[in-house]
Amino acid sequence: MKTWIVKRPLEKKLMLVNLLAFGLASAFAVILIVAYFWTTARADLLRNTEITAQVLAQNSAPAFLFEDRKAAREVISALSQDQNVLGADLFLPDHTLFASYRRDGISPALWEQGKVPASTSSALINSHFYASYLLVVAPVVAEGQPVGAVQIRVDLSSTYQHIFNLVIVVVIATLGAVLVAGYLLKRYLRRILDPINQLVGTMHDVSSNDDYTQRILATTDDEIGKLIDSFNFMLEQIQRRDAALGKELVERKRAEIQLDHIAHYDSVTGLPNRHFFNRHTTGLAQLRGNLDASYALLFIDLDNFKYVNDTFGHSVGDLLLIAVAERLQKTLRTRDLVVRLGGDEFSVLLDNPKSLDDAIRLANKLLLIMAAPFSCDDHEFNVGVSIGVAMMPDHVSKFEDLLSCADAAMYAAKAYGKNNVKVWQPEMSKRTAQRFTIESGLRHAIENGELEVYYQPILYLASNRIAGMEALLRWKHPLLGFVSPAEFIPIAEESQLIVSIGDWVLRQACSQAKIWEQRFGELFIAVNVSARQFRDSGFADNVERIVRETGCPPHILELELTETMLMSQTSETMAILEDLSGRGFQLSLDDFGTGYSSLAYLKRFPINKLKIDRSFVSDLPHDKDDAAIAQVIVSLSHHMDMRVVAEGIETVEQAEFLRELGCTYAQGFLFSQPLPAARFALFAEANLAQTEETQGRWHN
Ligand code: C2E
Ligand code: MG
Ligand code: MG
Repeated sequence: MKTWIVKRPLEKKLMLVNLLAFGLASAFAVILIVAYFWTTARADLLRNTEITAQVLAQNSAPAFLFEDRKAAREVISALSQDQNVLGADLFLPDHTLFASYRRDGISPALWEQGKVPASTSSALINSHFYASYLLVVAPVVAEGQPVGAVQIRVDLSSTYQHIFNLVIVVVIATLGAVLVAGYLLKRYLRRILDPINQLVGTMHDVSSNDDYTQRILATTDDEIGKLIDSFNFMLEQIQRRDAALGKELVERKRAEIQLDHIAHYDSVTGLPNRHFFNRHTTGLAQLRGNLDASYALLFIDLDNFKYVNDTFGHSVGDLLLIAVAERLQKTLRTRDLVVRLGGDEFSVLLDNPKSLDDAIRLANKLLLIMAAPFSCDDHEFNVGVSIGVAMMPDHVSKFEDLLSCADAAMYAAKAYGKNNVKVWQPEMSKRTAQRFTIESGLRHAIENGELEVYYQPILYLASNRIAGMEALLRWKHPLLGFVSPAEFIPIAEESQLIVSIGDWVLRQACSQAKIWEQRFGELFIAVNVSARQFRDSGFADNVERIVRETGCPPHILELELTETMLMSQTSETMAILEDLSGRGFQLSLDDFGTGYSSLAYLKRFPINKLKIDRSFVSDLPHDKDDAAIAQVIVSLSHHMDMRVVAEGIETVEQAEFLRELGCTYAQGFLFSQPLPAARFALFAEANLAQTEETQGRWHN
C-alpha cells in the first residue's frame, strides 16, 4: 500500500488526501446530524407518550375507582388514534391486568418482554437507546390514592425509518458534494501542478540533451514560481560555467598542443627533436616489430659549429643551425625523418633503404651538400659534417641501439679527421662507451681528488734559465688510469664541466705560483683557458678574485688563449681582452699558426705573447716551410713587440735553430716534461743554481 502510494503521481496523491479529508469530514457531519436528529426525535416521542400516559391515567382513574373494566377498555382503546402506540395496559395495584389495548398485528411474544410491575411514578422503562420501542409507565391516582398503573408502548420504527431516510439523503448529498469537490479539485490541482510538470519535463530535456539554454516561464508568484525562477537561475549559472569551461577546455587543448610541440620539436630549427625521435621509433617498433623492416640512421655532427658558436655568438650559431636544417630537408625525401638531436647533432632516419650502400651513398651526398659554404648574418662558413651510419637489422635489432651505434660511428668519423662518413663497426661502440665513462667520471673528478696540476718549465732560450711554467692538467681515472687532456678537455668543454674544472686549475696554479714566487723569485705561470670559460660573463671577475685570494701577483699570470677564440673580431671579444689586459694579466696566443691565422687581427688585440705550435717545431730545422713559418712568426712578434714561445722542442737542433731566430722562450721535452709540483720545484732549484753558476762563470 505504502509503495503503491509512493508510486502514484503527485496529482493523484493530492486528490486522494483531499477527498479522504473531505469524506471523513462529511462522515463526521452525517454522524453528528443523525445523532442529533435521533436524540431530539426520541425525546419528543417520549415527552408525548408521557403526556398520553398521564392523560390515560387521569381518564381511567374513575374506571379504577369503580372497577369498571368496560369503561377502562374504552378509555384505553382511544389510543388506537395514535399510530405510534403499539399497545397499553392498565394494572391493578396487585399487578393484575385491569384492561389492555393492542394494536393489530402485535405478537404476544414481543409483548411479554415488556411486562413490568405497576409503579407509583411515571417512568421510561426497559428502553435502550437502540430499542425498537419506548415503554412508559404512569401511576393512576384517584382521590389521592394510587389505584393502578398505566403502561404504554410506542413504536420507534417510524423514527428509525426517518433517520434512515435522512442518512440516505445526507449520504447522497455528501457523495454528490464529494464528486463536485473531486472535479473542482482536479481542475484546480491541474492548474497548480502544470508548472511542476513543465519543470520536470524541462529538467529531463536539459539533462538528456545537455541543452542549458532552455528556460521556463513562471506564471505564478508562489513557491512553484520561485522554484521555477531558481531553476532558471541555476540553468543560467550552468550555461555560464559551461561557456567558461568550454573556453578553458579550448585553451587547455591549445596549451597541450603547444606543449606537445615544444616538447617534441626543436625551437630553433623547427625540426622534430630527440623526444619526437624516441616516440616515433617506439611507435614504429610497436607497429611493425623491430625486425620486420629495415632502417638506416645517419648521425650527423657539424664539424666546426663550436667554433662558430663560440666566436660569433649564439644568434649566428642558431642561424647556421637553421640553414643546415633547411639544407637537410631539401635534400631528403619527405618520408625520411630529419631530427635535431641537440646542439649541432642531427639525425636522418631512412625508412626501408634498399641496402647499406644506399644509405652510405646518401650520407656522402649530404657530406657534399654540407660542404658548400653557408652564409649567415654577413658571415660565410664552411662547417663540414661528420656522419655515422648504422643499419637495422644489419647492425642492431633495437632502435635505441641504432642511435648509439650511429653516434659511435659519427665519433669514429670525427676521429678519422672530420668531414667524412663512417659505417658502424663493433669496436666503435667501445670508444663511445669510454667517452661516456670519461664524461661521468669527470663530474666527480675534483671532489674525488683525481685531478692534479702538472707544471712544464718554460725557459729563456738565450740562457736556458727558467722563466716560468705552463700549468697542464692531469687526471688519474680510478679505472682508466691517466687520461690525456687532449681526450678529456674537449669532453669537458662540451659538457660545460670545463668552467668549474678551469676555475679549479686556475686556483691551484695561482696558489702554487705564489709559493714559488716567494721561493724562486718571479716566474710567470701560464694557464690554458678554454673558449667556454673565455665567453663566460663573469670570467674576468673570477680570475681577479682567484688572484686576489691566492695572493698571486696579476702580472705573472698568463692566460693562454687560442686563435679561434679571437677569430670574430667583434667588439665583445675586444672588450673581454681589454678587460683582462686592463686588470694586469698577460695574454698569450697558444698553438699559434694552427688556427685561422689572420695576422691582421694580432695588431688590434692586446696580446703579449705568441706560442709557436709544436707542429711547426717538430720538423725543424730541416723542413723548409716550417723553418720559414717559424722565422716569420718570430720576426712578426718582434715587430709587434710581442715575445715568442716555441712549444714542443725535443732536440738540441730545434733549440739551436730557434735561438738563432731570436725566439725568446722555449718549452719542450728537451728541457723537461710537465712535472708534478714537488718535482717542478726540484727542477727549478737545480736550473736556477746551474744558471747562476754559469752566469757567475761568465762574469768571472
Ligand atoms: P697545450 O696548451 O698546447 O699544451 C702543450 C701540450 O704539449 C701539453 O700536452 C704538453 O705536455 C705537450 N708538450 C710539451 N712539450 C712537448 C714536447 O716536447 N713534445 C711533445 N710531444 N709534447 C709536448 P698535454 O699536457 O697533453 O695537454 C694537451 C692540451 O690539453 C694542451 O695543449 C691544452 O690545450 C689542453 N690542456 C691541458 N691542460 C689544460 C687546462 O688546464 N685547461 C685547458 N683549457 N686546457 C688544457
Ligand atoms: Mg697551452
Ligand atoms: Mg700549445
